[in-house]
Amino acid sequence: SDVGSQKERVVTEEEWLQKWEMGNIGFHKEQGHPLFQKYLDVLLNGRSGLRIFFPLCGKAVEMKWLADMGHSVVGVEVSEQAVKEFFSEHSLPYYEEPVSEISGAKMFQSTSGNISLYCCNIYDLSSSIVGKFDGVWDRGALVAVNPRDRQRYASLMINLVEKNSSYLLVTVSYDPNKHKGPPFYVPESEVKSLFG
Ligand code: SAH
Repeated sequence: SDVGSQKERVVTEEEWLQKWEMGNIGFHKEQGHPLFQKYLDVLLNGRSGLRIFFPLCGKAVEMKWLADMGHSVVGVEVSEQAVKEFFSEHSLPYYEEPVSEISGAKMFQSTSGNISLYCCNIYDLSSSIVGKFDGVWDRGALVAVNPRDRQRYASLMINLVEKNSSYLLVTVSYDPNKHKGPPFYVPESEVKSLFG
C-alpha cells in the first residue's frame, strides 16, 4: 500500500523530549513486549554473556531482564529523563560520565557495569565508540526513525552487529493514510531492501 503520506514526516528531537516531559509515552510497556518473550530464544540462541543493543531504547524493561540473565546491555536514547527513569524505576544505582568522542553526550552506566545507556542522537554512535553487538532488540526504533533517515539508520545498525548476530525487529502494519505516525508503517519489502 501507499506510504507516500508518511514519507516527508519529521519528528524533531525536541518533540521527543517533550513527549517524555508531558508523560506522553504510550509506547512504553511496563510489562515488556509480548514478542520479546516469544522470540527471546531466537535472540539468544543458547548463547550466554552476549552484548545486546537497544536502539532508541526509551526505558524498555527488557534491558533489565537481559542484564539479570547475565548479558550486557547497551542502549541509546536522546531523552535524559527516560534514561534516569529507567535506572530509578528499577532501583539501579548508576553513574554518569561524558562521552569524549561525542560533544554533549553522556553515558549512564549501572554501577554493576552491565547496563550502559548513551544519551545522545543515535547517528552520533559508531562501532568505534560502542563496539559491536551479538544481538539487537529493535522495537519502537526503526518504526520511530523519520522515514527519510531509514537508510542511514539501517546502515548504522548493520555496522554495529557482529557477523553471527540476531536482530529482532518489531514493526507495525496499518493503513498509513489513517495515522501520521510514529510508529511509522514500514512495509516488509522495505525491511528487506534496508537489511538485505
Ligand atoms: N524502544 C523503546 C522506545 C520507543 S519510542 C520502547 O520500546 O519502549 C522511541 C524512542 O526513541 C523515544 O524514547 C525517543 O526519545 C527516542 N529517540 C527518537 N529519535 C532518537 C534519535 N535520533 N536518537 C536517540 N533516541 C531517539
